[in-house]
Amino acid sequence: MPSPRASVVALLAAAAASVLVVAAGCGDEGGGANGTSVSAVATTTQVADLVRNVGGSRVAVDGILPANADPHGYEPRPSDAAALTDADVVFQAGGDIDEWLDEVVDSAGGHAERVTLIDSVTTVEGEDEHGEETDPHWWQDPRNAILAVAAIRGALVRADPDGRAGYERRAAGYSGKLRRLDAEVARCIDQVPAGKRKLVTTHDALGYFANRYGIEVIGAVIPALSTQAQPSAKDVGELVDQIKSEGVEAIFPEASLSRKLEQAISREAGAEVGGQLWADTLGPEGSSGETYLDAVRANAGTLAEGLSGGSVTCSFSR
Ligand SMILES: [Zn+2]
Repeated sequence: MPSPRASVVALLAAAAASVLVVAAGCGDEGGGANGTSVSAVATTTQVADLVRNVGGSRVAVDGILPANADPHGYEPRPSDAAALTDADVVFQAGGDIDEWLDEVVDSAGGHAERVTLIDSVTTVEGEDEHGEETDPHWWQDPRNAILAVAAIRGALVRADPDGRAGYERRAAGYSGKLRRLDAEVARCIDQVPAGKRKLVTTHDALGYFANRYGIEVIGAVIPALSTQAQPSAKDVGELVDQIKSEGVEAIFPEASLSRKLEQAISREAGAEVGGQLWADTLGPEGSSGETYLDAVRANAGTLAEGLSGGSVTCSFSR
């Protein structure tokens, strides 16, 4: 007859085994004991969201940037390097957005495959204080998010070939949502009279969105592709003149940046301050920018309302 202690051990072992069976059963093709097969690090909130949508329960995603933080000025912490040491894949947006990843990779070592998503999307050139430069804000065009999803799927299949069917299925399903998002945003912005589609933002972050949906970028409070530049008094004066002469209806602050200058410029130029945009970051849980899909919808609605002086409101399917 087994001792009481032995039967407790046997019970615990049986319980652990049934937990594993349940985990494998509901996580479609769960691998490790915690249900994940791949450990991924993502730099920005948008990139982390795209990776989670493709990875599903097979991929543990460690996002470096918190919600509502500016990626341009991010200072890496020691824990970022620690996360990278154990990662299989690291996904970054690319360009000026997360150049700081270089120093994290240098100090972390490890074996992670590094995937720079800007290399897989269609880029446009923007104006910076240094002249013509590749605009790093590619995710503001949902068609680029579809290209990024394909690159993420490819990298996850390389890291975890057994999960291929799931990665392909989730990437296809999410890409369908991105295509619907793109069509709905186009319909939304089309309702704004063409002469009113004139955009002024905090920094030059929405060039891709403007390009895609037929909006003219008039200028930015920080006249640069990065948030790290400072506008001069001359820059601000010129922007005020432009806002007046172009008849810009509203200027739009960004969620992660101070809006003091926007308020001063709008008073001076006689424009409204529109709702805040999710430019370089997603928002916290429960905000209008909780996911990439939410953030793009929220931006389209905010822009349509502000640019039209409140006469256009958009509705989106979920
Ligand atoms: Zn930016």
